[in-house]
Amino acid sequence: MENPEKELKILYLYPDILELYGDFGNIQVLKYRLEKRGVKATIEPYSIGDATPNFNNYDLVFAGGGADQEQSILATDLVKYKNSIKEAVKNGVFFLLICGAYQLFGKYYKDVNGTIIPGLEIFDYYTEAIEDRKKRCIGNIVIEANLPAPTGSTKVIGFENHGGQTYGITTPFGKVLKGNGNKFGDTEEGFFHKNVIATYLHGPLLSKNPALADYIIKHCLDRKYNIDTQLEPLNDSFIDKCRKQLLTRFEL
Ligand code: GLN
Repeated sequence: MENPEKELKILYLYPDILELYGDFGNIQVLKYRLEKRGVKATIEPYSIGDATPNFNNYDLVFAGGGADQEQSILATDLVKYKNSIKEAVKNGVFFLLICGAYQLFGKYYKDVNGTIIPGLEIFDYYTEAIEDRKKRCIGNIVIEANLPAPTGSTKVIGFENHGGQTYGITTPFGKVLKGNGNKFGDTEEGFFHKNVIATYLHGPLLSKNPALADYIIKHCLDRKYNIDTQLEPLNDSFIDKCRKQLLTRFEL
């Protein structure tokens, strides 16, 4: 290993409950891209019944998507950690949250039956499912995310499937080029706040978007080791071809 002394610790929340459309692939991509750079990736799962995690001990916390029923099952457990999660966000631990998890970091999620599932209230946005359960934002989605330097503007490709319509976003993750985003026909997608990326994009997100994966890796390494990490480029020629093909298909 190139940097055997370097390690990123990843907390994977509710892997047995929140795992839609290959969300676990995001963890695998992070591990792969870290190990290729000689950085050790330690992944620790947490789910209901496990010992209380110390969120501040991690460099990155990941949580995936889940249907309404799954969200209602875990919300009570998640809300127990409201203060420690809030503190970890404030301290700069990186959070990558997909779909169902994105919704639960806001004020609440009102599901398709009108039941309110309380959120962590860490951010001011809130989500309400559209009443007609047949109406969902489903399909391929592409957004233009303007990430801090050196990554800059990048097209992020994914797949969305949500009935939830998210309101009150002041700092979106990206501008919608194709698909819906936070609500039906929205121009904005997701939520971005310094060390938090919350998005409706499944994919897995990071396998389709290596620039985003490397943005997150660099952000975490820079913070942990107080350096300006220069990530060795990886051979992404195959994924680059796939991205080109998808973007051409979407006429973007
Ligand atoms: N249950 C949520 C919704 O339908 C989240 C779905 C998901 O995570 N894909 O809006």
